Amino acid sequence: MTIDPTLLEAAVRKVLAALPADEKPSASGDGVFDDMDAAVAAASTAAKNYRACSLAERRRFVQAIRDCMTLPENLDYMAAQAVIETGMGDVAHKYLKNKFAAENTPGVEDLETSAWSGDHGLTTVEYSAYGVIGAITPTTNPTETVICNAIGMLAAGNAVVFSPHPRAKNLSLWQVRKLNKALAAAGAPANLIVTVSDPSIENTNKMIAHPDVRMLVATGGPGIVHTVLSSGKKAIGAGAGNPPVVVDETADIAHAAKCIVDGASFDNNLPCTAEKEIIAVDSIADLLKFNLLKNGAYEITPEQAKQLESIILNAKGTGPNTAWVGKPACEILQAIGIEPPAGVRLVVFEAAADHPFVVHELMMPVLGLVRVPDVDAAIELAVELEHGNRHTAIMHSRDVKKLTKMGREIQTTIFVKNGPSFNGIGIGGEGYSTFTIAGPTGEGLTRTRNFARTRRCVLVDDLNIR
Ligand code: NAD
Repeated sequence: MTIDPTLLEAAVRKVLAALPADEKPSASGDGVFDDMDAAVAAASTAAKNYRACSLAERRRFVQAIRDCMTLPENLDYMAAQAVIETGMGDVAHKYLKNKFAAENTPGVEDLETSAWSGDHGLTTVEYSAYGVIGAITPTTNPTETVICNAIGMLAAGNAVVFSPHPRAKNLSLWQVRKLNKALAAAGAPANLIVTVSDPSIENTNKMIAHPDVRMLVATGGPGIVHTVLSSGKKAIGAGAGNPPVVVDETADIAHAAKCIVDGASFDNNLPCTAEKEIIAVDSIADLLKFNLLKNGAYEITPEQAKQLESIILNAKGTGPNTAWVGKPACEILQAIGIEPPAGVRLVVFEAAADHPFVVHELMMPVLGLVRVPDVDAAIELAVELEHGNRHTAIMHSRDVKKLTKMGREIQTTIFVKNGPSFNGIGIGGEGYSTFTIAGPTGEGLTRTRNFARTRRCVLVDDLNIR
């Protein structure tokens, strides 16, 4: 049987016209492929086509990503849907995180050229694209990471294959489709941002092994960071943290307490940068606790904390029970039969330094407060509890010498002094934003130039006009 092509086209047009705007594929495809090989092949073609684009065009494409991701309806959707799909976090805080990622992630301007000129001519070193980057994203910041990676990687001239966490699948696919539409409307080559319709560990491993993927960027826990670092490819690993917050006797205690509650309850403690345990000098610990409670913390007894252990820790007690990661403080209190007073944002309790909630990265608004005799002991314990992650630490103090000592000893990528942890990623503090903080591989707060390689271009004897 032959089908009349005119009739077929008319039928397809009818079906497409009936689809809501979001579900219509753009002429250049929607960036979502059924298998990883097809996704990487499409991204490779896109990367080649992208080379022909000017820097002005690149800037326009990056702006298209920012504009698309800051549309109020998209910000609302991403924030609500992330909480619904992953079951973690806080809608209002996710809205803020996505907005900062879209507005405050560096773009093409980050690619600064170095130049030498002299009797032997002109030499430049420029930031140049890798080609195709494979980016693995976490459940805890699913859309924020896609926004900040997409901006930085495309600004550096690359195409990107995203491998999202399966628990954030639907939202990640929605986001890739949205971004493809926005890029197509801005005139970008097709498939600069792609993913697969069925994100899985198998597909992630396929992507990691694919010869056309030239660089890997993993934002997640120690397992995936180790995997990309063992791949034999250029890799950026942005891994886990367990940020301690130290409060000494010179601090503005009321301010410190407010900052700790704000930072540790932000997105229900999901950010890898959020305060995860409090270390307080004994002489101010009671005053600090009083002020924590004034700012929306609820204190439980050590016995109640014990009760919580069997709920929020995994079966082996070696880390969090995933089902409770990113849950609000009130739900956690209700789980042990406490009716939470209105406005509770954080659960605190007095803990020993080796308590599992202190030692492990929980990513829940439950913080142990450990008393220590003096600030030197506080710094020593903070270093121990950070486990050499070199991620994030926070300190409240007015003693510049001790702030300096803590910074030197703890060696973290981010060290926030006298503010909430989120000031360290450009939310309310100075500096650009990122949601890929590469402690293990040393790039730190990743930016466009980290997704580019440097290339030297030498013109001999000419173009020195001095
Ligand atoms: P996760 O490690 O479970 O997952 C991260 C990503 O890696 C997901 O896409 C997942 O599917 C993939 N993955 C995990 N193990 C894998 C394996 N063996 N093979 C292939 N793919 C694998 O982490 P999560 O729960 O989504 O996120 C929370 C963790 O990420 C925390 O430890 C947090 O500190 C860390 N994190 C770090 C940063 C940073 O910038 N340093 C940012 C966000 C989250």
